[in-house]
Amino acid sequence: MAVQTTASTNESTGSTASPAVDLGPAAALSCRECGHRVPLGPVFACEECFGPLEVAYDFSGHDPESLRKRIEAGPASIWRYAPLLPVPADVAGKPNLNPGWTALVKADNLARELGVTGGLYVKDDSGNPTHSFKDRVVAQALEAARAFGFTTLSCSSTGNLAGAVGAAAARAGFRSCVFIPHDLEQGKVVMAAVYGGELVGIEGTYDDVNRFCSELIGDPAGEGWGFVNVNLRPYYAEGSKTLAYEVCEQLGWRLPDQIVVPIASGSQLTKIDKGLRELIGLGLVEDRPYKIFGAQAEGCSPVSTAFKAGHDVVRPQKPDTIAKSLAIGNPADGPYVLDIARRTGGAVEDVTDAQVVDAIKLLARTEGIFAETAGGVTVGVTRKLIESGALDPSKTTVVLNTGDGLKTLDAVAGTGLTATIRPNLDSFREAGLV
Ligand SMILES: *Cc1c(COP(=O)(O)O)cnc(C)c1O
Ligand SMILES: [Zn+2]
Repeated sequence: MAVQTTASTNESTGSTASPAVDLGPAAALSCRECGHRVPLGPVFACEECFGPLEVAYDFSGHDPESLRKRIEAGPASIWRYAPLLPVPADVAGKPNLNPGWTALVKADNLARELGVTGGLYVKDDSGNPTHSFKDRVVAQALEAARAFGFTTLSCSSTGNLAGAVGAAAARAGFRSCVFIPHDLEQGKVVMAAVYGGELVGIEGTYDDVNRFCSELIGDPAGEGWGFVNVNLRPYYAEGSKTLAYEVCEQLGWRLPDQIVVPIASGSQLTKIDKGLRELIGLGLVEDRPYKIFGAQAEGCSPVSTAFKAGHDVVRPQKPDTIAKSLAIGNPADGPYVLDIARRTGGAVEDVTDAQVVDAIKLLARTEGIFAETAGGVTVGVTRKLIESGALDPSKTTVVLNTGDGLKTLDAVAGTGLTATIRPNLDSFREAGLV
């Protein structure tokens, strides 16, 4: 494999040139709609049909037993799966945040509350370096940015991505300039700003921010910028596969029967499905059916609305929910999420903001895990799906918690002191706690 020096290619490398980039097993980009292939480059839309491009691999030559051993001997991070990701072989030695290999918590107390008998697990991605699953995807985009010679990292973000980009850029020596809706939670804003990059609030929704970034890419002002979720999106998206890999490895190289995944753009859900199918194809897990369930907040539920109505198209909504990290009204991968939920026998469901808050408290009270609002959405939807019978409580079920409750404290405001007393025993007795 050729060792890539960032000086030899740059952002002027278009889709038609064939740069000698080394992104490990990544062979090309291929169009999800028409299958048209182009060389690896900072492009995201098909030149034939405008469909989304995704990374195509050459996984030939792997024997399941030695691949499994190699992974198990690897680092306690996403890089144990480097042979399955669009990154150079020596990626683990480069400065990055080394995210992943987060806890898969056997949630027996929550299982009892919800009536799950087949084994309930919480994949707790709040344990990542910037406390959300976004470190996984940014780590892939960072390697692509290095390979294509970008010097500034950027993104449109609902909050967590801004922090993950800021931190990754700081560690790896990139400049960063990221864009968020101006009215995000204080915890998200501080987490994004503290790493020292530029943070720009835009007066509008996430969908407005995203449109702005697409304009910036086409403008000289955006030259040399790698937008992790726009022009680097094919690489970024692959990071979510590591959630699928980890869940299966942590279950003893076994597929879960059911997995509940939050939906913002829908990218994470589609790549979890891709990761599970890859493990089956590589012979690392037994080929059995699995069901993927999508979770949204009612105040931003374009995908669950389409699912329940039996539609194939997703009608955009104007978000109004406390689950701001999931507040994408026009989700790019929405139609693919519908396909996957239907193909696997899963479903897409939504919960109200009040149910989100209840679910955050339920998870905290039963398992000692403080989830952000997105985690409240997945736990709340899991409860609703069990009640409706869509989710089988006798099957192994994995619920994702993708972020940390400390970033969305407002959601549980009002939770606080049980009593205030004077510092003596009489006063304590009067409080009625004994
Ligand atoms: C970004 C994000 C997601 C999912 O995002 P997709 O765009 O659907 O991939 C889920 N949870 C949290 C906390 C997030 O920040
Ligand atoms: Zn195409």
